[in-house]
Amino acid sequence: MIRDLVRRDVVNLKNYQVHMQQCRYKMDANESPFDLSEDMYEKMADIVKKSRPNIYPDPMATRLREAISEYAGVPADRIMVGNGSDDLIHGLMNSFVEKDDCVIYPEPSFSMYRIYTLIAGARPVGIPLGDEFQYDTDEFMRAVYRYSPKVVFLCTPNNPTGNTIAREDIVKVLDCVKGLLVVDEAYFEFCGNSVVELTEKYPNLVVLRTFSKAMGLAGLRVGYMISSQEVIGEMYKTKSPYNLNSLSQAIACEVLKSGSYKERVDYIVKERDRLYMRLKEIKGVKSYPSHANFILIKVADAEGVHRRLIEKGVLVRSFKGDPYLDDCLRVTVNTAEANDYFIEALKEIMSR
Ligand SMILES: *Cc1c(COP(=O)(O)O)cnc(C)c1O
Repeated sequence: MIRDLVRRDVVNLKNYQVHMQQCRYKMDANESPFDLSEDMYEKMADIVKKSRPNIYPDPMATRLREAISEYAGVPADRIMVGNGSDDLIHGLMNSFVEKDDCVIYPEPSFSMYRIYTLIAGARPVGIPLGDEFQYDTDEFMRAVYRYSPKVVFLCTPNNPTGNTIAREDIVKVLDCVKGLLVVDEAYFEFCGNSVVELTEKYPNLVVLRTFSKAMGLAGLRVGYMISSQEVIGEMYKTKSPYNLNSLSQAIACEVLKSGSYKERVDYIVKERDRLYMRLKEIKGVKSYPSHANFILIKVADAEGVHRRLIEKGVLVRSFKGDPYLDDCLRVTVNTAEANDYFIEALKEIMSR
């Protein structure tokens, strides 16, 4: 039996579930609603022509790291890129986490912290957020003392709740963790606050970022991490040499240099705030303030609302079976037209 051959840490895991339903408006995965510009497609055509697919990509992603270095304001030797930031979370486990180590993270948050911890054979411990999903520093510090975690994950703005963690609180945790503190800034561009410059002072601080959200390149799978040279050095030991393909490296580099994402981020932020105001007008919907490109809402019958939205052509994210997100749905901010359509659809569903 194949099942008897599978590692015990893996045998009970489930596939990451993605709805591949075709919907008129895709508002479930925090992607950018914007296609790249014509200009960028021309540049991409040029990149493809010069790409030499018979040759392995640059394992150090030198040009891309230099572009990120300029963007993030840290030297390129403290940056590593990955096949999405998921790949880097996995890499952190490979280099730093062993059996019986403890990994802590807020709950609810991004589900992959737990999954990769389980795959590493380590012990995941979720620390609940407050009633309004606010982050409770004291609770977190108690957990740090109690579990002596090898890795602590914080996510700010937090997915799926949209709230941020104050910088002072991050520093408090930094001052007491002996392991790594990973701050996931996947939605950094929508809020503007970062702790990147603290990586100069704290060698155990890791900042994760991605091209999948604000940069609009989810399909190309580009993520990066910023940390100390020591941490980056240990990461390279376990990295697959050619984890990021040549096309993704070159295109991510162009998109970053073009600066075209800026205007789009401004648009999404404006739409997010408008969407939030409009959601507040709907009876029976509680919405949580967000600093990212999505809004979490709470309704009486989330599964029913989710299904009826699909019937009307809108796909949002449901959290069926997650005890922390009972009756919650997460809607990704889209174009004004899509957001209006979603609001009208939700209004109608809620008025029935
Ligand atoms: C989307 C997301 C990621 C993963 O991004 P990829 O680079 O596409 O792997 C990581 N962390 C959080 C919190 C996210 O929401």
